[in-house]
Amino acid sequence: MAVLPIRVFPDPVLKEKAAPVEGVTPEVSAFIDDLLETMRNSPGGVGIAAPQVGISRRIIIVDVSAHRRGGQEPNHGLLVLANPEVLAMGGKQVVREGCMSVPDYTANVQRAQWVLVDALGRDGERVIVESIGFEAVAIQHEMDHLDGILFLDRVVSIKNDLFRRKKYR
Ligand code: ZN
Repeated sequence: MAVLPIRVFPDPVLKEKAAPVEGVTPEVSAFIDDLLETMRNSPGGVGIAAPQVGISRRIIIVDVSAHRRGGQEPNHGLLVLANPEVLAMGGKQVVREGCMSVPDYTANVQRAQWVLVDALGRDGERVIVESIGFEAVAIQHEMDHLDGILFLDRVVSIKNDLFRRKKYR
């Protein structure tokens, strides 16, 4: 396993529409291990998408179980989703989001309250995931990466909803 370098805005790979994977082949599986290690290497990270390491394929990982808010809500723990598709979504919530690829900013973004997603799981099996609350936000954020959308693109008011991140030592 390896920690891969994170691509940072305005890297053009972040604006591409990613291609589906054929399935979870041994090569894809090895890549998922690297992507997972890269996510876990980032303190506070609750998700990652393949385009963030320069691989324009439809794979995301989400794990909110260690997050201060996400861990207190119902969640699936580690979710590896290939070729995810939203089957249904509903409700509204506004959550402050950040992104490893946009390190200098956070923003209030409006998302659906819940999502129902169809995907291939870690071993290539078909999975249907129903998610609500903070985990549902993380899934929507990571799925956006597969279509070249950053949370910055969803900010309604730059003046009121975009915040420069404080520098932490
Ligand atoms: Zn992101």
